[in-house]
Amino acid sequence: MRDDLAVFRDVGRVHALAEAIARLDPGRPVRLMHVCGTHENALCQFGLRDLLPAWLGLVAGPGCPVCVCPASDLDLAARLAMDPRVVLATFGDVVRVPARTSLAAVRARGADVRIVYGASDAVALARALPAREVVFFAVGFETTACTTAAALQADPPANFSVLCSHRLVPPALDALLGLPGVAPEGFLLPGHVITVTGLSAYRDLASRRPIAMAVGGFEPVDLLLALKDLVEQVADGRPRVGNDYPRAVRDGGNPAAIAAIAQVFEARDAAWRGIGTIPASGLGLRAAFAGRDAAARFGLVPDPEVPDTTPGCRCGDVLLGRLEPEACPLFGSGCTPDVPVGPCMVAFEGTCAARYRHRRL
Ligand code: SF4
Repeated sequence: MRDDLAVFRDVGRVHALAEAIARLDPGRPVRLMHVCGTHENALCQFGLRDLLPAWLGLVAGPGCPVCVCPASDLDLAARLAMDPRVVLATFGDVVRVPARTSLAAVRARGADVRIVYGASDAVALARALPAREVVFFAVGFETTACTTAAALQADPPANFSVLCSHRLVPPALDALLGLPGVAPEGFLLPGHVITVTGLSAYRDLASRRPIAMAVGGFEPVDLLLALKDLVEQVADGRPRVGNDYPRAVRDGGNPAAIAAIAQVFEARDAAWRGIGTIPASGLGLRAAFAGRDAAARFGLVPDPEVPDTTPGCRCGDVLLGRLEPEACPLFGSGCTPDVPVGPCMVAFEGTCAARYRHRRL
């Protein structure tokens, strides 16, 4: 395995690919976007942007599921957690995200908030605590939606329910292409999401909105191969959906995961923090699983008055690739991972957090 990894981190291959990209110079600026916090971390960790030619820009889009979770959903989770019957289980990053309050703040006031690695851990918690109501606050893209679906399919105990804030990537890309000043010339697609979903939704998008797309893995060679593919597509004017992560991604994705998502969830219009509502970009529970809907079980509805952004925070612009994190006046001074002002500085996958972690000192 270590040998496999070494192939994808080989310095000679990395530099050869960077030079191959530079030779594709179209004589004008090219702007690409990735939509994946793991990609941003890999780009920062390996210093890959430093190897790219000046004419090639690669901005981060809304690729951090914790960052795009709307403040109204976080507020709903916090109110649920304050119910003495409830144990609220969710991912560690979600707990610290600031909204009107945060799950960390309500936990400090006595709420029972537990950190889990996934839905199956929350189900185990429900089995271990039969006298309590365990609510799994489900945040994430298709990669985690399939695990929430699998947990619900596996007949969890009656005291288990889900507060669902899953989001879908393809409708977000579609929406980005319609926003002024946002649309890139190509999308670097997240390899882990596409491993689950396959390529069909992206081919459908490409048929409606011709734009370069390429699936990238998470090692330096993977990323540069996908970027080279994207620049070639832009240069020859024939956009397509390239698969540059074939060791993980199959055209049809993971059929079992796709079927689980389709059986448990249906697409719904959903809010993305700092961006707004995107049609059919969220997942809600189908009628057959309505009894597992925590908001309905506890009679809670989202409060539309919850402010979506913190004053001074530019996460909305960062999530749309309109602003580099370092250009936010609060970056590194008023806002750090220890004292985050916005969600992009909290989550491991947040663009601001990645840039801060890997900043030059
Ligand atoms: S640096 Fe902090 S305040 Fe600025 S956009 Fe990022 S998270 Fe928001």
